[in-house]
Amino acid sequence: MNQRDLNQGRPSRIEGDIRATNDHKYSTYSGNKALMLEEPLIFEAGSLDKSGVDIDVITPDINRLGGLERNQTIGLPGLSESETVRHYTRLSRQNYAIDLGLFPLGSCTMKHNPRLNEKMARIAGFADIHPMQPISTVQGALELIDELAHWLKKLTGMPAVAMSPKAGAHGELCGILAIRAALEARGDAREVILVPESAHGTNPATAAFAGYRVEEIPATEGGRVDVAALEERLGPDVAGVMITNPNTCGLFEPDMRKISDLVHAAGGLVYCDGANFNAIVGRVRPGDLGIDAMHINLHKTFSTPHGGGGPGSGPVVLSEALAPYAPLPFVTKSKDYFTLIEEEQSTAVAGDTFGRMTAFHGQMGMFTRALSYIMSHGADGLKQVSEDAVLNANYILRSMDDVLDAPFGHSGPCMHEALFSDKGLADGFSTIDISKGLIDEGYHPMTMYFPLVVHGAMLVEPTETESKDAVDAFIGSFRNVVQKAIDGDNNLLQAPHFAPRARLDETSAARRPILVWNEPETAQAAE
Ligand SMILES: *Cc1c(COP(=O)(O)O)cnc(C)c1O
Repeated sequence: MNQRDLNQGRPSRIEGDIRATNDHKYSTYSGNKALMLEEPLIFEAGSLDKSGVDIDVITPDINRLGGLERNQTIGLPGLSESETVRHYTRLSRQNYAIDLGLFPLGSCTMKHNPRLNEKMARIAGFADIHPMQPISTVQGALELIDELAHWLKKLTGMPAVAMSPKAGAHGELCGILAIRAALEARGDAREVILVPESAHGTNPATAAFAGYRVEEIPATEGGRVDVAALEERLGPDVAGVMITNPNTCGLFEPDMRKISDLVHAAGGLVYCDGANFNAIVGRVRPGDLGIDAMHINLHKTFSTPHGGGGPGSGPVVLSEALAPYAPLPFVTKSKDYFTLIEEEQSTAVAGDTFGRMTAFHGQMGMFTRALSYIMSHGADGLKQVSEDAVLNANYILRSMDDVLDAPFGHSGPCMHEALFSDKGLADGFSTIDISKGLIDEGYHPMTMYFPLVVHGAMLVEPTETESKDAVDAFIGSFRNVVQKAIDGDNNLLQAPHFAPRARLDETSAARRPILVWNEPETAQAAE
């Protein structure tokens, strides 16, 4: 029986598909494109009355669960084992990944995750433990967390670190809650957090979530924080600032120390979004810039995988002023024995904590990978990491700036990402067309339309883990696509031509996601 028969009576996702060519000569019966296989939803492929396993029917009169047993089917489609394996393997092949090719997504630092990290993370003493195990049986794991904490403090020049936040955005929340706790402890609750207009969306979202009013700080012509405007706005209602450094225009904020001093003088505190730490690790210590709290995305700077929104890890380094408010739990060591401080205590360490960010102490698997990465590079190796990341980005900036507008290119080298605008493309052509053209070239698109301060922004971050050959190949493809957009090549407006899907309705996908599968009839009736 072929796929079509199996799907009889159900609307086929293959027919009428956007990618089906009108040219009959080149269409296929299966909907597959050579070895790029079309894959229906598992509900469309399997059927409710089919079972993938052969087990004896359980005698119903044995009351094993005291009457709690399910009396209806759970509605999962049946597939054989091989069909199930194929389904998920095919889906996995539709994913672009750093293990397949260069992933130039700016601000995301999509670098290679060395396999040594994976080997370490799979050691049973780190992988097969439970957060509620007796402390005496997880001494090695706690030591690993403590050792990683030590490195993070050393690399940032900060006295304390909260390890439990599970992503950059979660770390932001941790830092802002610590700022709130510190201000409230001195009886000076304030209302406003200032955020530059180039900030990542999570910054204003975090401040608003923590109950602050968000106000924007303008950028200068050169893409940096307008220090004069910031100074003007500071006052007794400002709890603090959230500044990304290096910023989302791919530029270092050279006035950071001055900004911190101004904010402190006005009674506020300084949050730094450390997502771009990869550009400065080993070279600049945020603690020397007067920062009070900064998250570090282990899944960016320290190479641990970004897995579809998780599992990330976002430890937050804290200054002397914020350390007492750090969240629970945290690891302490006394006489070579590690313990977890789990409760508020009348000690200096956990006296004023604002509470917990998560149930337990954080992402053990990510801690293991990050420490493996850090120790295999060492301090000198990490300095080389940031230097090479910056070198690769500048190589792209200077290899493209004759065809693409680089709005801040005149103000000197960039940090670890190169920023371009859509100025100079033919009428009717925009950044999205370049992104779609890159897909045909076999690349995941760069970050686009972010930061908002640049029209049609393209933010390209190669990272240091790409060789010169790999970067050259990418530049060749990028230039090819950009040239089509400059020449007004109409074919580009329909790109990608070679991908399973072309131009999806991304707005509806984000705003009206359908997350639960219904039989098509039911779905129609519900509309
Ligand atoms: C990635 C990123 C964040 C958010 O980090 P997550 O780990 O994705 O939550 C915040 N700010 C900037 C500048 C980022 O690049």
